Amino acid sequence: MNEHDSERIAGLLLADGMTPAEDIAASRVVVLNTCAIRENADNKLYGNLGHLKPVKAANPQMRIVVSGCLAQKDKGEIQRRAPWVDVVVGTHALPHLLELLARSETEGLQMDVREQTETFPSALPAARDDAFRAWVSIAPGCDNACTFCIVPLVRGPQRSRAVDDILAEVRGLAARGVVEVTLLGQNVNTYGRDVTVPGSPRSPLFADLLRRVGAVDGIRRVRFTSPHPHDFTPDVIEAMADTPAVCEHIHFPMQSGSDDVLRRMQRSYRRDRYMGWLERIRAAIPGIAASTDIIVGFPGETERDFEQTLEVVEAARFDSAYMFQYSPRPGTRAASFDGQVHKEVVQARFDRLVALQERISTEEAAALVGETHEVLVEGGDKKGRSTQSRTRTNRIVHIAEAMEPGRFARARIVAAAAHHLTGELVRDPVGAGT
Ligand code: SF4
Repeated sequence: MNEHDSERIAGLLLADGMTPAEDIAASRVVVLNTCAIRENADNKLYGNLGHLKPVKAANPQMRIVVSGCLAQKDKGEIQRRAPWVDVVVGTHALPHLLELLARSETEGLQMDVREQTETFPSALPAARDDAFRAWVSIAPGCDNACTFCIVPLVRGPQRSRAVDDILAEVRGLAARGVVEVTLLGQNVNTYGRDVTVPGSPRSPLFADLLRRVGAVDGIRRVRFTSPHPHDFTPDVIEAMADTPAVCEHIHFPMQSGSDDVLRRMQRSYRRDRYMGWLERIRAAIPGIAASTDIIVGFPGETERDFEQTLEVVEAARFDSAYMFQYSPRPGTRAASFDGQVHKEVVQARFDRLVALQERISTEEAAALVGETHEVLVEGGDKKGRSTQSRTRTNRIVHIAEAMEPGRFARARIVAAAAHHLTGELVRDPVGAGT
């Protein structure tokens, strides 16, 4: 969501006639778009602002903007610690960025950290890195209150976009050559709960949205993130199975394999329910890949709790996992919980979990050798040796031949590692992406 906001910020500035600067020292506007989810986000922000202070002193025309979650959370703190900042724009105020910038020229510091979204960022212009794929925000904000999470504080309650707005954006993207969209929401399964279908008392459903986005001409891949195990419903599985464009991959955040820890996290599902959904999804969609999020060392996590996480990871056989060491976020409930786990214990558990998941990822990847997959070309790999592409199941495939980003091809998998596969083209690329 934060990166999507960055695209919107860049789009707004470009639409206003600005161009990307080569040299930060000569920049007219510098935007630091912050994300409070990551550890040390505030240290990084104030460190970067410290570096910018002499740069701005040498270039007084420069305007420094702080946007995103930390702007929303820290508000006046930013002004106090870095009075050389010109604009503080919170998560709900992005559409006002240009007028705030203009006003800062004559009136000094401008701060807009309103608590409610009035215009969805997706209604703004965007500058996207890729011409062939795009994020589409469907419901920013979150109505849950997971005790480790800062999102409800900085993004506010869930606000669903109207189905027609989303479809209009997706059709517009398809008309410009986009072939893959990722629907973004903090909890996509509760999409629509806060709005009604025009002319009806009924709320729109995420399952219907998936089908309709998947039916847009030119859209060949639909992904979404993230579903919530508590709010998952069978109609979403049916829509995923019935809609050819919906990719065979689900990112399904588990967080912990211990019911006690899940309870303290205020994640309102339990391990059996989580595994039950995973089984149903896999039964309905053969070959679907699953990834997850796991937090290690949540306050009060015992050795037995952690072993339960290892058991679930072993049983679930995720393709991949985003694994995090718990660290308290100021402003969250868990930050003040008793039983904060010692850093060395967290590190040792984290290392065990990573080793387990690496083994499983490697085994799952090895099982794909010999299979043929449709891949979408993303570009050259970082070392410029080959083309990087991606399967519908979200696996990266390196192919020796150079191919244009946005094109589809079929690749036979010839080698596998935990985090990427190697493939050979089985026939000429089919279908143009861009
Ligand atoms: S569901 Fe929980 S973890 Fe996800 S954004 Fe909402 S509060 Fe945060």
